[in-house]
Amino acid sequence: MTKVCLISLGCAKNLIDSEQMLSLLDEAGFELTGEPEEADAAIVNTCAFIESAKSEAIENILAMGELKKAGKLKKLIVTGCLAQRYQDELLTEMPEIDALLGTGSVSEIVKVLKETRPEKKPQYYGDINAPLDEAGRVVSTGPGWAYIKIAEGCSNNCAYCVIPSIRGKYRSRPMENILSEARALAATGVKELIVVAQDPTMYGVDLYHRRALAELTRELTKIDGLEWIRLHYLYPDAVDDELIDVIASEPKVLKYLDIPIQHINNKILKDMRRRGTGDDIRALLPKLRARIPGVVLRTSLITGLPGEGEAEFEELCDFLREARIERAGVFPFSPEEGTPAYDMPHVDADEAARRAEIIRELQAGIMEDFDRSRVGTTVRVLCEGFDGDTGLYVGRSFAESPDVDGYIYFGSPEERTAGEFYDVVLRGDLDGDLAGETV
Ligand code: SF4
Repeated sequence: MTKVCLISLGCAKNLIDSEQMLSLLDEAGFELTGEPEEADAAIVNTCAFIESAKSEAIENILAMGELKKAGKLKKLIVTGCLAQRYQDELLTEMPEIDALLGTGSVSEIVKVLKETRPEKKPQYYGDINAPLDEAGRVVSTGPGWAYIKIAEGCSNNCAYCVIPSIRGKYRSRPMENILSEARALAATGVKELIVVAQDPTMYGVDLYHRRALAELTRELTKIDGLEWIRLHYLYPDAVDDELIDVIASEPKVLKYLDIPIQHINNKILKDMRRRGTGDDIRALLPKLRARIPGVVLRTSLITGLPGEGEAEFEELCDFLREARIERAGVFPFSPEEGTPAYDMPHVDADEAARRAEIIRELQAGIMEDFDRSRVGTTVRVLCEGFDGDTGLYVGRSFAESPDVDGYIYFGSPEERTAGEFYDVVLRGDLDGDLAGETV
């Protein structure tokens, strides 16, 4: 039996594609392994939206190429965004690759694996604007939590972003399909469902001709077994009163909102084709804090965007000092060929990286203050397991989303179970995370 190892890179949306491929491979009788050294075939499901993601993808492909040279692997298949974006160029530059599968061809993974031979390098690039496949998944996260993708692609066309050209225009999944997948996940013990898409706030516009994220979120709260619903990647101008009401009034919807703002300067936002202004963002955040008491905000930011001089960067820093957003991911601007921003004048990569570092430090201080303010409080934690290094259990509260935020470590006199909730009183800091004990 052919043993297959799949390496999933990039975001949660790509991870779901990986999980769908794993399910198709499993159904087709392939044996799955997490160890590339033990595999006959490796699949690298890549990300390619900025330079650092492309480098990570290439490093992984090269590492698999080395295993092939050593005679351990027989087939190396590259899927996802890098394959979609570079196609023939990738095969020419990296002859160790045996097959490519674009983002519109996830469902062809079994076919491509069977067809790949030394003398044949199949490539499939299905329609990236086609309706989404409703494939099964081998959920690789948890225990107790899973992502759910409600749409694919993006039609926003921000000037710096290559995603619409890799992932196609925005396509919502029918609501009944999302709800039935959510019910099935809940039946397997998933308690926290993390809603993702490139832009979940556009959900429904293509299918139902109206924004339907608020309605979908309310329907998800009705599913027995689901206890936490977390919303990611909300476009700021679409966080409207209807959505705020659902978040504020439904106990199952976490008071944690991820709203990527990217910048605060009006001209930069306009030039980058972002909807809404910095002033709109400045008005939105206090409104959220007033309407959703205790809300924890997350955002993502880009430094060194075209039009960002010292004054615009200072404006961003001043805004962050004032807004005290609890969580932030910061990326230096990555000029991507084929996007309008690629040709716009901008600071060099070193300067963009220097500015990103300044913001990381600024945000680290804000996060420390936030963590300190939580010491002594009791939080509900979804346990993810036991950590051998610290001798403590590890989990997350509403304020921590997996992979992007920190963790909560906790001691307990009794044995605890991964995937279950526990009340934990927070006692202090543990290397940048929080630590406490069960109540
Ligand atoms: S909203 Fe903008 S940044 Fe986000 S995926 Fe769409 S085009 Fe890219």
